[in-house]
Amino acid sequence: MTIAHTLGFPRIGAQRELKQAVEAYWQGRSSEAELLATGKNLRARHWALQREAGLNLIPVGDFAWYDQMLNMTAMLGAALARFGFAAQLSLAEYFQLARGNAAQPAMEMTKWFDTNYHYLVPEFSATTEFKLSSDWLFDEVSEAQALGVNAKPVLIGPLTYLYLGKEKSAGLNRLDLLPKILPVYQQILARLKKLGVEWVQIDEPILALELPPEWLAAFRPTYEKLALGAPNILLATYFESVVAHLDLLQALPVAGLHIDIVRGPEQATAFARHYPESKILSVGIVDGRNIWRNNLAASLQILQSLHEQLGDRLWVATSCSLQHVPVDLAQETKLDKTIKSWLAFATQKCAEVATLAKGVQHGTASIAPQLAQSLKAGESRVYSPLIFKREVRERIKNLQPCDDQRRSPFAQRIAAQQAELKLPAYPTTTIGSFPQTAEIRQARAAFKQGKLSTADYQTAMQGEIRHAVQMQEKLGLDVLVHGEAERNDMVEYFGEQLQGFCFSEFGWVQSYGSRCVKPPIIYGDITRAHAMTVEWSRYAQSLTDKPMKGMLTGPITILQWSFVRNDILRADVAMQIALAIRDEVQDLEQAGIRIIQIDEAALREGLPIKRRDWAHYLAWAVRAFRVATSCVADTTQIHTHMCYSEFNDILPAIAAMDADVITIETSRSDMELLDAFSAFNYPNDIGPGVYDIHSPRVPSAADMLHLMHKARAVIAPERLWINPDCGLKTRGWIEVEAALKNMVQVAHELRAVA
Ligand code: GLN
Ligand code: ZN
Repeated sequence: MTIAHTLGFPRIGAQRELKQAVEAYWQGRSSEAELLATGKNLRARHWALQREAGLNLIPVGDFAWYDQMLNMTAMLGAALARFGFAAQLSLAEYFQLARGNAAQPAMEMTKWFDTNYHYLVPEFSATTEFKLSSDWLFDEVSEAQALGVNAKPVLIGPLTYLYLGKEKSAGLNRLDLLPKILPVYQQILARLKKLGVEWVQIDEPILALELPPEWLAAFRPTYEKLALGAPNILLATYFESVVAHLDLLQALPVAGLHIDIVRGPEQATAFARHYPESKILSVGIVDGRNIWRNNLAASLQILQSLHEQLGDRLWVATSCSLQHVPVDLAQETKLDKTIKSWLAFATQKCAEVATLAKGVQHGTASIAPQLAQSLKAGESRVYSPLIFKREVRERIKNLQPCDDQRRSPFAQRIAAQQAELKLPAYPTTTIGSFPQTAEIRQARAAFKQGKLSTADYQTAMQGEIRHAVQMQEKLGLDVLVHGEAERNDMVEYFGEQLQGFCFSEFGWVQSYGSRCVKPPIIYGDITRAHAMTVEWSRYAQSLTDKPMKGMLTGPITILQWSFVRNDILRADVAMQIALAIRDEVQDLEQAGIRIIQIDEAALREGLPIKRRDWAHYLAWAVRAFRVATSCVADTTQIHTHMCYSEFNDILPAIAAMDADVITIETSRSDMELLDAFSAFNYPNDIGPGVYDIHSPRVPSAADMLHLMHKARAVIAPERLWINPDCGLKTRGWIEVEAALKNMVQVAHELRAVA
């Protein structure tokens, strides 16, 4: 029979139950027992749902209280020495690793490949030891088995785990830790086997990267060791083609391989040809990264031809874990019916996988109704008048070469800006948002439900802006922000006002820990019908003589954090957004806003997995930013902001964006990033983040001064700004006020010695 399975299911719950439970626990509003019960219920629900959809193997271990990489760290007993915890972590300690505590900053966090999911980066030192230290996975397997679920435990493979970690001792090569880590994996696998597990999925997504040869060479000996005494191993790759490693993978002593043929369609035939008799080939054909309905007929055709070669050795699957898509489309009652018919969320994708497996096994006729529905939806989308706007296509065609160029070079602009703005040395600013308090969220919810009039909502938000401005003036910040009280989310806010976007009500996906985002859906050509931020910025500027930064989200970030239509090129969608933002930039300038920040937090995460594709992406991404920002006078200062990733290898592209000022996350990595900025000789102004806003910890002036001294050692002082790592929306006012007070003090101290 043709096995159908997923690589993982979203753990947050259709109504974000996990988020709510975890946050209630953190805030002491509920007990650990209550949290554990919520987790257990969610797991049971998600297993049942997949089983009822007709899937044969159900992933277990895709659940995590915070992050799947952190779960691996806990299981391997590799908690960071600096926290001083025993190998076996309590739940409270597990969360402290993720969030920091009074004594220790949180673990570093970075993006999971090219997704918007963030994992906690393992830290290795010369003294790192591994020891099986958590029973969570085994307990969950038993839990699933007790429910009659055919459990397929999921682990992050040892090579991916090590590769994605970071060395914290000089001279250490994390690959050298492999002999220490493998015995623990062997123990884990042996225990799973003892539990009666037949298949275990080991994720090695690093195979989709262009790996250094020594890492590639480690796969064979590693899996030779692991395969002994283990359940059947399904080695899972995803996010890109692994066809470059075809020989290695076919020869690997594992019982099965999973490949992602949504991202790497050419792999399918390459792998199926001469595929070893003894191995399963799991083919990921239902997109785990996007919300468009599968073209079942096209998929079936591919699968049928693979089935001719592979027979029951062919498994049908999602391309990757479904954690990157929302849980259930059935909850959506407000979506346009036509658009809704084009979509599939995790629950629907499970059914698609099961349907395809059935079609493979029992023939096309066995799934005739599903094929007909899929065909109808596909046709309604292709011919829909909702998706095409001639004026947008024409505006893009008619762009001139000068449309992505500022009027003068940076040196001239910055002189003009200094004359205009008269900022002190080491100007202080923040990244945009201030705490999204319960009152703000309540007001927005009431407004959305029609319980608060537009006028009252506006008054409430203006009150918030006033409060933020007064606070910033009191603290003595130099460049103010309005605080983004009116924004639910930096992408959703713009998507809601642009044409070509639509929104789900419950389409949440996990971004990190308890933080979820509800990505807009870009289904059609994008236009801006009216100004989106001008009135708020104008109001904020009217309250102060200090410069007020206008605050926009950049085209790449809007693109990256949306579910993007798959019927035109991403580059073309980016340019459509860029033109809408360009119009907004122009309107802000005309309204007297002299500094405009365009956040491109997601620039790096848009990078293709393979380096050979980077240059092409960066060229269109940078051009989109420049088209969005180049329309202003020299005196108007353009800022950009980026966070939570390594930028070292794309510095030329960041410089090519030609923002006058970049504010950037650096505090968690202790300013490491700046070495690269200095080596590259980054030409424009830069504000290295000195306050880690993802931790409740208030940094002292001494902490931040230390970071600024490090920054000053590598960046010319006249180019430096002082600011937090990112927006402050997730923090509380008390900690924000204390931290910013210290931050301003640092500026004063630096100015005094200058
Ligand atoms: N301006 C945004 C904010 O402050 C930036 C957020 C981000 O970079 N993720 O919230
Ligand atoms: Zn940020």
